[in-house]
Amino acid sequence: MSERYEPPVTDVSAPFWDATREKRLTIQRCADCERWIWYPRSACTGCLGEDLRWTDVAGAGSVYAVSIHHRPGVAEMNDRVPYAVALVELQEGVRMLTNVVDCDPESVQIGQQVSVAWEALSDGRNLPVFVRAR
Ligand code: ZN
Repeated sequence: MSERYEPPVTDVSAPFWDATREKRLTIQRCADCERWIWYPRSACTGCLGEDLRWTDVAGAGSVYAVSIHHRPGVAEMNDRVPYAVALVELQEGVRMLTNVVDCDPESVQIGQQVSVAWEALSDGRNLPVFVRAR
């Protein structure tokens, strides 16, 4: 398997990536209005509050939208086509752009239950992907 595109780490996203080293999915929650926030930001998307707390979540959700890519978006994905790019809505309500893996991509459908799985990156981080819930 060729190496995957590895997302950059920023100051704001560093706690997220650190947690992935332990295969923990952690997302921000606003201490003021309790809104869950994804992707990592420095201010709440609801109230602009800046007291955002990293909170571990179970990584359970459902497929909100899916598209099957037959041509890779980035060269690192060349040997993976076709693959399923999905918006997964976590139980907490945020939607993550991700891949649903370990199944026929054509079988991925809106509404299916999925749970987080981890794909190792070269630097010890893990990339959250999703598998069909069993
Ligand atoms: Zn807020």
